[in-house]
Amino acid sequence: NRQDKIRNFSIIAHIDHGKSTLADRLIQSTGLLTQREMKEQILDTMDLERERGITIKLQTTRLVYKAKDGDEYILNLIDTPGHVDFTYEVSRSLAACEGAVLVVDASQGVEAQTLANVHLADVQGLEIVPVLNKIDLPSARPDEIKHEIEEVIGILAEDAPLISAKDGLNIEDVLEAVVKKVPAPSGDENGPLKALIFDSYYDSYRGAVAMVRIKEGQVRKGTKIMMMAAKKVFEVAEVGIFIPSATPVEVLKAGDVGYITASIKNVKDCRVGDTITDADRPAAEPLPGYKKAQPMVYCGIYPAEGESYDVIRDALEKLQLNDAALTFEPETSVALGFGFRCGFLGLLHLEIIQQRLEREFDLDLIATSPSVIYRVTKTDGEVIMVQNPTNLPERQSILTMEEPIVDAHIFCPTDYVGNIMELCQNRRGVMLSMDYLDAKRVRLHYELPLNEVIYDFFDALKSKTRGYGSLDYEFKEYRESDLVKLDVLLNKDLIDAFSMIVHSTKAVSRGRVICEKLKEVIPRHQFAVPIQASIGGNIIARETISALRKDVLAKCYGGDISRKKKLLEKQKEGKKKMRQLGSVEVPQQAFLEVLKYD
Ligand code: GDP
Ligand code: MG
Repeated sequence: NRQDKIRNFSIIAHIDHGKSTLADRLIQSTGLLTQREMKEQILDTMDLERERGITIKLQTTRLVYKAKDGDEYILNLIDTPGHVDFTYEVSRSLAACEGAVLVVDASQGVEAQTLANVHLADVQGLEIVPVLNKIDLPSARPDEIKHEIEEVIGILAEDAPLISAKDGLNIEDVLEAVVKKVPAPSGDENGPLKALIFDSYYDSYRGAVAMVRIKEGQVRKGTKIMMMAAKKVFEVAEVGIFIPSATPVEVLKAGDVGYITASIKNVKDCRVGDTITDADRPAAEPLPGYKKAQPMVYCGIYPAEGESYDVIRDALEKLQLNDAALTFEPETSVALGFGFRCGFLGLLHLEIIQQRLEREFDLDLIATSPSVIYRVTKTDGEVIMVQNPTNLPERQSILTMEEPIVDAHIFCPTDYVGNIMELCQNRRGVMLSMDYLDAKRVRLHYELPLNEVIYDFFDALKSKTRGYGSLDYEFKEYRESDLVKLDVLLNKDLIDAFSMIVHSTKAVSRGRVICEKLKEVIPRHQFAVPIQASIGGNIIARETISALRKDVLAKCYGGDISRKKKLLEKQKEGKKKMRQLGSVEVPQQAFLEVLKYD
């Protein structure tokens, strides 16, 4: 049977434990790419991923491995991101697989995201193959960590391969473990076609490209396919596999991972999670899709000076195809005009999307300060969800306000427990439990308001634990809270794009910090600019940016033309990503500065 020789697996791990490096070694050791073609973290194809050294998008590649039993196996590998914001990518990758290689750094041990990812794999019923990485490090403690995996995760780790992905040590043990432990796929090759779209992207020549796992049946060029949810029919232009670049093949059959193109021009017709079937012989029902991603953080995205609204909408639509967790709808702001309210899984997700819009679509954008969603019960009984602080009803008409609370799990060395407790206390956290993973490390369980987590929490955690703390969180419930709207006025104009909702006990101190931060980042004008923070019309803090005295060109004594040009050029550069808010020019940076705590 053809499928007996196929293994579909993901690599999962906490961030930085070595998933992408292991993927490199697997690609190399199976001879897929020559030494010359190889570069580090080869599957991290986006510039952003390479710069930041993190995986954002799942990536897939086919390997051919000659196993010790003498047979050749086809291994379809899916590399996944590790950061909490990209859990959605991970769960989709897993749905295309029968197994997951769990990489654990042998010097760090089990971290928050290790456990979160194992949980995702468990839910999908995957076979988990533990691997201990970085055993080249002097600080590696493979025996202790094996024990920790068994204790904390509850899977056997006695035979886990001990590897160094960096040095290429014992990589073959991983391949053997995959072949032996991950079950082969078993779908009916001759049944009606059922292909799960686990990712997709837009290609300007070929239209939408669907990355698929064929669960049943077959598909080839010319097959009339139907998108079961979108109910649209297309003729297949090409099917292929990733090795790791897209390469056409004759046919994809049950058990295979690959791609399908069909001149799909409308990105809405190729949704992640949909099932592709044969239009002439359709499947009775679609595969279970994915739970829709639930955005946790919202912000407004607006054109910077001179950018067009329509171009941004087009870019958001295309990006949404490649990032199913992104949501958006039109909104208007008094200060910024027409734009979009966009939903994200977290702050890193927001940052990445903003940068992708700017780079991949060459746009100049203003993103407003992020906010979580509040649930407001009005005195007339109506319940509304407020994604934008500007839309908060008048105070008199609010009966109760509730904010989202998350369950947060923090793993860290015992030395830093005091720091973590202090941090969480400052963020209105409630500790539920603390347990020891071993003599040196603990796991803390906290309830935290999400709006305290999105403001700078992750960075604070990292700095208070010297990088050793790790965090995972998930939505728990809405809970009543004493919240107020904090407004910012620039030169006496209320700038709606800066409004935020904060806990009443923190409003005054936040107002002060915001005024100070804005004073630092807003350039001087020809006139003095007062910056004020207000609650319900009462000014609670104030700073003033003094007026600009000299004209920039005055320095040039009217002489040197090229120097003058350069200066004007420079001014223009600096103007990029500025927006006129009322009478004041504000740089993009201002919207992020106001989030900083201190
Ligand atoms: P990912 O976030 O799980 O994909 O991790 P990466 O593969 O990007 O690796 C994170 C960092 O750990 C990189 O700097 C790697 O060079 C390093 N690294 C990966 N594997 C090893 C290893 O076996 N030994 C050592 N010493 N470093 C490693
Ligand atoms: Mg990676």
